[in-house]
Amino acid sequence: MIDDALLAILACPACQGDVVLKDNKIVCTRCARRYPIKDGAPVLLADEAEK
Ligand SMILES: [Zn+2]
Repeated sequence: MIDDALLAILACPACQGDVVLKDNKIVCTRCARRYPIKDGAPVLLADEAEK
């Protein structure tokens, strides 16, 4: 489960922007890249990002 405390310490690997949880994806508030969540863990890899 992704909680607010975890989100607070995560940052977008592409731009270091803040990220939020949306539709079960991690979404960067700065560049809008989206990162998948696999097995309950966010996959913050630039290669995995969707624009
Ligand atoms: Zn970003």
